[in-house]
Amino acid sequence: MALMTAKEYIESLRKLNTRVYMFGEKIDNWVDHPMIRPSINCVAMTYALAQNPEYEDLMTATSNLTGRKVNRFAHLHQSTEDLVKKVKMQRLLGQKTASCFQRCVGMDAFNAVYSTTYEIDEKYGTSYHENFKNFLIMVQDNDLTVDGAMTDPKGDRSKAPHQQSDPDMFVHVVERRDDGIVVCGAKVHQTGSINSHWHIFMPTIAMGEADKDWAVSFACPTDAEGMYMIYGRQSCDTRKMEESQGCIDVGNAKFGGQETLVVLDHVFIPNEYIFLNGEYEFAGMMVERFAGYHRQSYGGCKVGVGDVVIGAAALAAEYNGVEKASHIKDKLIEMTHLNETLYSCGIACSCEGCPTKAGNYQIDLLLANVCKQNITRFPYEIVRLAEDIAGGLMVTMPSEADFNSDTVVGRNGETIGEICNKYFAGRDDVSTEDRQRIMRFLENMCLGAAAVGYRTESMHGAGSPQAQRIMIARQGNIQGKKQLAKDIAGIK
Ligand code: SF4
Ligand code: FE
Repeated sequence: MALMTAKEYIESLRKLNTRVYMFGEKIDNWVDHPMIRPSINCVAMTYALAQNPEYEDLMTATSNLTGRKVNRFAHLHQSTEDLVKKVKMQRLLGQKTASCFQRCVGMDAFNAVYSTTYEIDEKYGTSYHENFKNFLIMVQDNDLTVDGAMTDPKGDRSKAPHQQSDPDMFVHVVERRDDGIVVCGAKVHQTGSINSHWHIFMPTIAMGEADKDWAVSFACPTDAEGMYMIYGRQSCDTRKMEESQGCIDVGNAKFGGQETLVVLDHVFIPNEYIFLNGEYEFAGMMVERFAGYHRQSYGGCKVGVGDVVIGAAALAAEYNGVEKASHIKDKLIEMTHLNETLYSCGIACSCEGCPTKAGNYQIDLLLANVCKQNITRFPYEIVRLAEDIAGGLMVTMPSEADFNSDTVVGRNGETIGEICNKYFAGRDDVSTEDRQRIMRFLENMCLGAAAVGYRTESMHGAGSPQAQRIMIARQGNIQGKKQLAKDIAGIK
């Protein structure tokens, strides 16, 4: 099958029996739900850009498994060039959506599971790698979106999976049959979950022998029997439900991210979709590789979104008539410097990549972790500067309904709309509506619904800061550095 168009992708979601709950109720037509649809539009952009000849080189690749053309989001990286193109593709999508476009978690899972299953099979003679290859060929040929599901609820953080009072705190096997396994548990803050055709589940931490039943990885269709999702709230999310003509108050009415709680209530997984089942010592490898790829990903996607934040801040300055002030220019330079530093990390960890035993390419782990550690900081500073430039109006302006209101409020018959338009005017040559739009857009990016993707996700997505520091400690080679000092200082 050829690559799907954006429209075909959206229609393909309607054919699934995905179970979605929100505000305590089941949502039947979730594809057209105003709070969900922007996140679907975002994934649809990964299909739309792949159809555009201008972006073909970044958005598509040739499958090493079939020789056929595939969307890069379903590709196994075959070189450092592929790793670099991945980051560039993510920056492009961040620029086009100013949101989290969700499809990367699947791509990062494919590459981590592909190489890990190869090494499990090498040690145990299992057939997980073959299972995975067959699964991925199906994904590539049908141009599917797959959620990479890693983060378990984790319960009491001081306890291992088998020590939890509730065993469901980590996804685990509850029954082993000849034809497959039955699994229970959940994954939290799952990006793009309901917008995915399939899910790949992976463990979330390294495990010991007692955690064997929790050391499990598998694929399952998003509408599998026993699986359902509870939709995550975002700041200002119900603004998307308001009926306003221009959707100005939403800030970014077209695109958005999505996170859900995914529950597995006795879901049966046939043998052919199992990629890890009890080989506990490989759980850590899978986690580390997935996290490494996803930490690289942030050096692309967050940079693309950062480009839009910087552009919006520059527009706000212009609309306020202060674009020539030297401190404004300097703040825009600082934002650009921070954003390009993040990009440099994403590119660097890609250029320094190397082949895994399975043949696909892995990023440089130390540099990918440095990349993500910077992401936990710089977007906060970029947002702080954007708020500084924009001014308080981005959080104090009346609603779009006020700007459009015909209700008379003034002594001379002025309407609320006229009063708002009078007092919120900026430069003569800029419409008040444009000023309104850029302020609401910045509000959305800095602390509204999109701030999930740009701020808090920068902190916790792909692992919280401490997780990167542990990896930096492990990869930093302090012993080697001590030796360098000893050699030069003449210490034996
Ligand atoms: Fe992709 Fe970035 Fe969203 Fe992760 S946070 S899924 S890398 S867009
Ligand atoms: Fe993320």
